Amino acid sequence: MQKMYEFPLVQGVGAASEAVVNEGERVLRGQLIAKCTDQSLGQNIHSSVTGVVDNLDKEKIIILADEVQSDDFVKLKSTDPLDIIKEAGIVGLGGAGFPTHVKLAKAFEKGGVVIVNAAECEPILDHNIEFINENPDYVIKALKTVMKIVNAKDGVIGIKNLHKEEIDLLNKNIDNKNISIKGLENMYPMGEERALIREVLGVILEVDKLPMAAGSIVINLETICRIQEAIDLKKPLIDKDLTVGGKINGDLIKTFRNVPIGTKVGEMIERAAGISSSYGEIIMGGPFTGKRTTLDSPVVKTTGGIIVAEEFWKGPEKIGLLVCACGANKERLKEIADSMESKVVGVEYCKQAIEMKNKTHKCENPGVCPGQVQKVMALKKEGAQALLISNCTDCSNTVMSCAPQLKLPVYHCTDGALRAVNMKLVRRMK
Ligand code: SF4
Repeated sequence: MQKMYEFPLVQGVGAASEAVVNEGERVLRGQLIAKCTDQSLGQNIHSSVTGVVDNLDKEKIIILADEVQSDDFVKLKSTDPLDIIKEAGIVGLGGAGFPTHVKLAKAFEKGGVVIVNAAECEPILDHNIEFINENPDYVIKALKTVMKIVNAKDGVIGIKNLHKEEIDLLNKNIDNKNISIKGLENMYPMGEERALIREVLGVILEVDKLPMAAGSIVINLETICRIQEAIDLKKPLIDKDLTVGGKINGDLIKTFRNVPIGTKVGEMIERAAGISSSYGEIIMGGPFTGKRTTLDSPVVKTTGGIIVAEEFWKGPEKIGLLVCACGANKERLKEIADSMESKVVGVEYCKQAIEMKNKTHKCENPGVCPGQVQKVMALKKEGAQALLISNCTDCSNTVMSCAPQLKLPVYHCTDGALRAVNMKLVRRMK
């Protein structure tokens, strides 16, 4: 059966890409279908399938794929590594979607460290760790390539200590004294850019400073491997690794390699053996920062997870929200509260969540709790009968040390996803 693949023209940070194909046009896997507008932060988009452009508008291109597909693809033409990265349309694949050719454009003059984010700190997601397990040599090769592009002296891979086997495999493949492993605690949000810099370099960057201010670049594990792939094979970014988990048949967590971008969420759930029973919502991304999605939505460059979450618990009549800068934002918590049939009577932000110019929030010291009693009491005062929180592991622990004493039950934004895979809920850590 022929299937439709959808390619949104915005798949990360920057302006929408500009379509370079027309309706009815035949396209090949790997062919450029939308280009980065030169003067902006944007990206090229290539078709992941061979087929015919069925429909296009200002927001997306839809391609009706041939029934029979081949792994072949149209090769990139560039020869310089940075040009290859730009032509390939590589963006931060951990979820941020920042164009990688921009991130790597400025080389270090002296020193410099490339920090690879292999923390995979969202629970359930497992495809990065599985990739390391199967291809530790490729990870080291890719890190060396990126170090060379930005002229960095050192490279560090940040990975949680609990992944002992993968740490051993990486260590066995390191043949360079300037590359090392930094073991991380199993806490959320260890993969946050500034948390990684703190763990690796011992520097707490101010919220408005970029990693360059600490002489570093932080880059996601799959991103470096896709860079290597683009250089080795002249392959554009057309495939994505991801994890499907939750209320699905068979194993509750399954990983997938090289899923063609544009594949529908529903198809991925079917490939994972299908939904097992009634569910609350489908989340694209991880339990902390993922967004509600639909079966008809496409996998995009930044998709790391598809989670079929448990049915919502029914909440109390009035609920208070406590928002973290690194977890679900206010809008997402309101959406969950609505599904719990609770009315939001108050919203508080963690003390360390600083509002940025673009109205998003950043944490001053990710994962290190500044105390939550004051915020919990404020929500109680506003009439909350329970709390819905998106706090990091450490702060959730602190909330649990005071909210129950005020007779406030606590719900967490990750509950539906974690219940669906029988994982321990984010509550009291110690
Ligand atoms: S300290 Fe506060 S803002 Fe920072 S990660 Fe924890 S809950 Fe979020």
